[in-house]
Amino acid sequence: MGRVMTYSPKVFIPLTSLCRDRCGYCTFAKAPHRVPEPYLSLEQVVEVARQGAEAGCHEALFTMGEYPEDRYPQARQWLDDQGYADTIDYLVHAAQAVIDHTGLLPHANAGALSREDLAKLRTVSPSQGMMIESLNPDLAAHRGAPDKDPERRIATLNWAGELAIPFTTGILVGIGESREDRVIALQAIAQSHEKYGHVQEVIVQNFVPKADTEMRHWPACSTEDLVETLRIAREILPAGIHLQAPPNLTADIAVTSRIRNR
Ligand code: SF4
Repeated sequence: MGRVMTYSPKVFIPLTSLCRDRCGYCTFAKAPHRVPEPYLSLEQVVEVARQGAEAGCHEALFTMGEYPEDRYPQARQWLDDQGYADTIDYLVHAAQAVIDHTGLLPHANAGALSREDLAKLRTVSPSQGMMIESLNPDLAAHRGAPDKDPERRIATLNWAGELAIPFTTGILVGIGESREDRVIALQAIAQSHEKYGHVQEVIVQNFVPKADTEMRHWPACSTEDLVETLRIAREILPAGIHLQAPPNLTADIAVTSRIRNR
């Protein structure tokens, strides 16, 4: 491990917290009756970005649920009323508004996308991201989540490569996958990068059970599993790919120390 720590100050813009998927660990997605509106308005988007710019941010990280209009009539109606074809169409306009009004660089985190949608976003978002999570197709955690289909995740990663989109991806550790599953997912990311050279960063995220989720009684990813997976990731991934272990998810500060000292 090197001794240089880098970061990019960014502001999060949760464009919509509605989602058609039901991941067992999710704390982000909400039902329509729990949000004031299905989407942030363009004015709200720009205001959040403006505050981020004033605070010294360089990037606007768009987060959102996947294809909410396919599940919730409220989302479909909102998009129709505003004149947008779908969530990605609205995201393209929102990202352009952020560029026009704040100069921040949008980073779209829009999930498993078609090649066409990735290409549309490429015009307004200098980088994009999508977690692979796991390539095991039989995880209970993803039973209600059509967008976590491994083939769709890998296809998105590879299309992003074909389109030369600087990309962030990663895996989630401790959601029922085996050690071999983790290796398979990391190898797939490495192969895609070796072919296209587009993966900037890989996040190795540890599962932490959260109240009000299906997996609230699952054990958290152990420190040993996290450190071991980071070690494997560093061995499998090309040296040019940055490896990130989100420190905000690691309550045990000793983990950070152990990772740093390897
Ligand atoms: S895809 Fe899964 S993790 Fe992402 S917002 Fe939807 S339910 Fe949550």
